[in-house]
Amino acid sequence: MSAPINETLIRDIIQDVLGRLGAATPVAPAQPVAVSAVPGPAAASCGCPASAAKSAARFGQRGRFGVFADATEAGEAAQEAYLQLAEKGVAGRQKVIQLIKDICHAKAVEWGRLELEETKIGRLDHKIEKLKGLRAIPGVEFLNPYGLSGDHGITLEEYAPFGVIGAVTPSTHSIPTMACNVISMAAAGNAAVFNAHPGAYRCAVTAARVFNEAIHRELGIENLACIIEPPTLESFNAITKSEHVKLLCVTGGPGVVQAAMASGKRAICAGPGNPPVLVDGTSCLTNAAQCVVFGAAYDNNLLCIGEKEVFVLDLVFDQFLAALEKQGAFRLSGAQVERLAKEAFVFPPGQGAGCPHPVVNRELVGRDPAVLARIAGANIPEGTPLLFAETQADHLFVEEEQMMPFLPVVRVKTVAEGIAAAKKAEHGYKHSAIIHSHDVANMTAMAKALETTLFVKNGSCLAGLGNGGEGYANFSIATTTGEGICNPRTFTRVRRCVMVDKLRIF
Ligand code: NAD
Repeated sequence: MSAPINETLIRDIIQDVLGRLGAATPVAPAQPVAVSAVPGPAAASCGCPASAAKSAARFGQRGRFGVFADATEAGEAAQEAYLQLAEKGVAGRQKVIQLIKDICHAKAVEWGRLELEETKIGRLDHKIEKLKGLRAIPGVEFLNPYGLSGDHGITLEEYAPFGVIGAVTPSTHSIPTMACNVISMAAAGNAAVFNAHPGAYRCAVTAARVFNEAIHRELGIENLACIIEPPTLESFNAITKSEHVKLLCVTGGPGVVQAAMASGKRAICAGPGNPPVLVDGTSCLTNAAQCVVFGAAYDNNLLCIGEKEVFVLDLVFDQFLAALEKQGAFRLSGAQVERLAKEAFVFPPGQGAGCPHPVVNRELVGRDPAVLARIAGANIPEGTPLLFAETQADHLFVEEEQMMPFLPVVRVKTVAEGIAAAKKAEHGYKHSAIIHSHDVANMTAMAKALETTLFVKNGSCLAGLGNGGEGYANFSIATTTGEGICNPRTFTRVRRCVMVDKLRIF
């Protein structure tokens, strides 16, 4: 009785799936042969109708190499990949990490260009650097178990995977954030489903497909890093509702952080920032100016850790502005700043009660200094990395996370005033802050007042992620939820294993 039903069911599903595979052929050559070539625990079938249907459904996940229109299917495919990765052990995870790092390095120029062409924001040289820099992301070595040994035996706490992680990536570093997330998540034994930014997803889809093809070639796992094409709010919601998605990791502004935290799933939130800098005049002003220009100009100020406003003691204010000019930054006049501000911020009706809240004009985010200078009415030398000007502490450019290569510099009378203004500008995001000082009391006071996740002294913001300072890098800094700079351990569950009274060797 059950055999004919199974056959019909299987035939229907296979026909449906083949139809869809046919449509996907131009972008991802279908390789149905891979079904039998990839044995794994999840591929096993007991012969019952449900199992047959599941196996047939998985057949539809072949040849996709991680790219799915349907978030529920992506969750299922990622779950299978997670189980397959478990079969491959630590060596399998290491292989995945090496593949991703090598691919990003080899394709840095091609993919940097691809991302810039799609998003039109940032700088090519820095996009290339970001992809090459993924070599610095930590891997499986980060997961040292914690052991206890005593009269009652031995206990081991291990960092175990969650399974499938739903991830959201920003427009500002689409491929780097996805690649970096995959490295950290796979190092911990997880698979992932990504919802990229709608304005930066095509490049991420290209990269995800290449990652999965390489992982499939080496390990036989096809869908370890799944991605939704095209990403929508609906696909985000479907990811959060997938039974297989056990954890979320979102990287972006306040909207996505709020959505992730309201989803009902545990969420690691790498949220917005507006990093202030304080220059108290006790350290080298040339170094301070050099660091500020390097950090604020990086990828046209798209970095969430990037210097967004500077508070400088009155005593050294003019000297510091001169030092910025020496570093190649261009000073705008007050009138030019106001002309730029009029274009840089928009006031959508309906937001704010009677007093519309300013929103950064997306058209100018991450654009070249030359574009901003044209709007401001300034002629700047070719290759100018950054614009700056003196503003008041309550200027929109200080208060908003503008992500443009324009830096407002504010004069303060005392260190206390500078710290208070920096704290106000940071909005309690607890993201990043920087001080240029040789006075430990000032450093301590600012660190205590702002409570940021990253606090850099006498370096550029990038020193906080290992570029010019000690430490490892990551493109997701879990500020809002407090996990800090993401690493493989961030994506683990701690599991304890206890052996009573035995195995201690002395
Ligand atoms: P964004 O908030 O516009 O978008 C980020 C991602 O969230 C995108 O994929 C977007 O589609 C999605 N999203 C936005 N609102 C959503 C909602 N309501 N529901 C579901 N998904 C939603 O940010 P962006 O412009 O792409 O990136 C810049 C922002 O991200 C800045 O605020 C920056 O500080 C922050 N950021 C933070 C980190 C970090 O590590 N903390 C890293 C990079 C960027």
